[in-house]
Amino acid sequence: MIFKHTSRMLVLVAGMSITAVQAQTPAASAAIPAAIYGIAQRSITASTLAAPIRYLASDALEGRGPATRGDTLARLYLATELESLGYLPAGPNKSWQQEFDVVGTTAQLPNNWSFTTKSGPVDLKLSDEYIAGSGVQTDSAGFDNAELVFVGYGIEAPEYKWNDFKGVDVKGKVLVMLNNDPDWDDKLFAGKTRLYYGRWTYKYESAARHGAAGVIIVHTTPSAGYPWQVVQSSWGGEQFELPAEGEPRIQMKGWGTEEAVRRLVKAGGFDLDKLRAAAKSRAFKPVSLGIKTSIHFNNKVSRVRTGNVAGVLPGSDPKLKDEVVIYTAHHDHFGIGAPDAKGDKIYNGAQDNAAGCAQLLAIARAFAALPERPRRSVMMLFVAGEEQGLLGSRYYSLHPTYAPGKIAANINYDGGNFRGRTKDLTQIGKGKSSIDAIAQAMLERQGRVLMNDQFPDKGYFYRSDQFNFAKIGVPALYFHGGIEYIGKPEGWGREQQDLWTEHIYHQPSDEIDDTWVFDGMIEDAAVGFFTGWLVAQADAMPTWNPGDEFEAARKKALAN
Ligand SMILES: [Zn+2]
Repeated sequence: MIFKHTSRMLVLVAGMSITAVQAQTPAASAAIPAAIYGIAQRSITASTLAAPIRYLASDALEGRGPATRGDTLARLYLATELESLGYLPAGPNKSWQQEFDVVGTTAQLPNNWSFTTKSGPVDLKLSDEYIAGSGVQTDSAGFDNAELVFVGYGIEAPEYKWNDFKGVDVKGKVLVMLNNDPDWDDKLFAGKTRLYYGRWTYKYESAARHGAAGVIIVHTTPSAGYPWQVVQSSWGGEQFELPAEGEPRIQMKGWGTEEAVRRLVKAGGFDLDKLRAAAKSRAFKPVSLGIKTSIHFNNKVSRVRTGNVAGVLPGSDPKLKDEVVIYTAHHDHFGIGAPDAKGDKIYNGAQDNAAGCAQLLAIARAFAALPERPRRSVMMLFVAGEEQGLLGSRYYSLHPTYAPGKIAANINYDGGNFRGRTKDLTQIGKGKSSIDAIAQAMLERQGRVLMNDQFPDKGYFYRSDQFNFAKIGVPALYFHGGIEYIGKPEGWGREQQDLWTEHIYHQPSDEIDDTWVFDGMIEDAAVGFFTGWLVAQADAMPTWNPGDEFEAARKKALAN
């Protein structure tokens, strides 16, 4: 069942009149005909959600690593499902797939990374203390006798009058950087909310712009938003990128544990806590650490192909059908990798993101079952290479099949609620665009509340595929489940979320089992369906709220 108003003792079951519910929320009832609710209810069910998850997250798909057999099977399956629902191929040249090259680089790093300090040599141990990926797509990488410089957050943000470099030449140096962005003041970098400046991708790009040789990001669980284990599993193997196109690059993208970096800078005569305190000021200047290092490593470089899967249901309005609502969910995960304590090597990615794919397929089914097509076209886009840095959505945003100014909205699913119904739903990117009000009305219909990002420090908006749509100006949002579970004590959801991040996220244990319940996921998928349907039906496309960071990009896209 999709709509159960336990809070108001209004229970809607198949075949029951919804008049009682409509009386409670006149705005939403006026917007959505009763028949549409019934279609959603029959299309978005426990079975239509569970089945794709069982298939995509099965061991047979071997974790859906990019350019593996599992990747091929996942893409074929998704295209087949869309075709059987009546969708048309929406990739280039009327194909189901938008294939693209991905460069895979496996750095063969030394077991010990050696540094010379005034207190003698210091070694950092691979995996336990440092992790790195190659910054270049060549057979070998490295640098000689490079000096370590602490550059605080490594941020240059004119709008906040913040510049950690202060014009200091860091060419050829190894930059030691803090993760995240300044978060102690609401007027600086949106306070606790992590902006793009606080993402590791920004840190490496920032270092490359300055011609640095390498970077060591100091890992702490609060500043990353995840434990060291996630850094190990994310960076331990082959790294995938879109092919280089002549942009500046560093040789080595590194991470160090807090304890390792503390030990290292101490050997240079510095206290990590004091360096950190100094970085919390606009007056901060880069600190030369008096430490030098050389490193050389070989890369195994491969060029492989993966792809996005795209299907479209053409709109019914002769004019508006050129515009499109794009739903996204990434189909990739980590494939086969390092075994966990039980010896399991398959990173099944059931929650991340077979669950998102399943929600898209269920939504696709609901659209296909409508008696009349929506006015705008509706596209289902299953993107590749998300876990390696949002590659598929980035590729689509660089090679869109609809002009960015014709994309009405992007609704992204990354993950799904498998723990039961919630009183709330988190919308990552709430407060940014006019889509909020639509989603809000749908939530009210379910007797739930739309919540802002409850972990704004984790920077989720920049960590999933809707970010690449926002960058080209498309109003975008990302539903990320709720946190207040019905029938559970307060705080239970957050506790479960924390346990999950520690023990399951990006690990072989992300599997579907008998404990999964789907009534919460059904409601969350229904909100996305109705929101997209209303966007597809509206006279005008949604807009970013005035002053939003992506408003300028939208204006540019609409002008073209
Ligand atoms: Zn994901």
